[in-house]
Amino acid sequence: MIPDNTVPVLDHGFVRLDDVMADDLSVVNGARVSFARRSEEMDESDEGLIRFLMRDRHGTPFEHNSFRFHIRCPIFVAREWMRHRVSSFNEFSLRYAKATDDFYVPAVEDVRSQVGKPGAYSFEPVSDEVAEETREKLQAVYETAYATYQELVELGVARELARCALPVGAYTEFYWTVNARSLMNFLSLRNAETAQREIRRYAEACERFLEELMPVTYAAFVASGRVAP
Ligand SMILES: Cc1cc2nc3c(=O)[nH]c(=O)nc-3n(C[C@H](O)[C@H](O)[C@H](O)COP(=O)(O)OP(=O)(O)OC[C@H]3O[C@@H](n4cnc5c(N)ncnc54)[C@H](O)[C@@H]3O)c2cc1C
Repeated sequence: MIPDNTVPVLDHGFVRLDDVMADDLSVVNGARVSFARRSEEMDESDEGLIRFLMRDRHGTPFEHNSFRFHIRCPIFVAREWMRHRVSSFNEFSLRYAKATDDFYVPAVEDVRSQVGKPGAYSFEPVSDEVAEETREKLQAVYETAYATYQELVELGVARELARCALPVGAYTEFYWTVNARSLMNFLSLRNAETAQREIRRYAEACERFLEELMPVTYAAFVASGRVAP
């Protein structure tokens, strides 16, 4: 069990499962209705059915469930996340609410260099000095940016305009509701070597909930090479 349904991520973020309607049986019964049949409890043949559905990419039975996540992440992570259209989002508004002063500063071991060419980058560690300098420079920019934001708000400038001062390392929050099929597509793309490290950490956290709540589906997804059905 994940304590409080919350997984801390990065320096100020989290993935929290707000509510859920998800189990392996929903997949089985979504498929078995084709034959006017229904299972009350999972048995071995049901597990085999899920593996078959996954392998042969019969995707729709994996849609009869719902995960509602509450996410706190830097804006640049949210930008990547919101490209996943087959799901629903509602986000914290910087028009209506005041920004917090939480900004993402990567841990020393997460400061990296980018080597190679587009599509084939590798991300290599940097020296401790470069890592520390990066962290200090980011912190300095964040402090200036937030001070400017506050000054503009205090001058009476609308929050929707004052937010222009805030960088993409600022934290935002949103609710994300997604079914298992689309969640697997997200995990396949974002908990992957090719994904940016920061969104990958969030995808890893989301993946723990799928594994816990739909273990047979999850095992079949992994066995199928992490390709969403
Ligand atoms: C490593 C990586 C790098 C990326 N780089 C960039 C980038 O440089 N620039 C950029 O713009 N984006 C980039 N993206 C975002 C990417 O192009 C997708 O927008 C994002 O991953 C969402 O994937 P998706 O469309 O499969 O998900 P969803 O939008 O959730 O869609 C799920 C599935 O539904 C179907 N679907 C949804 N909408 C349509 C549609 N209109 N027509 C047909 N089928 C549809 C598709 O089968 C799709 O796979 C990147 C993503 C990754 C993982």
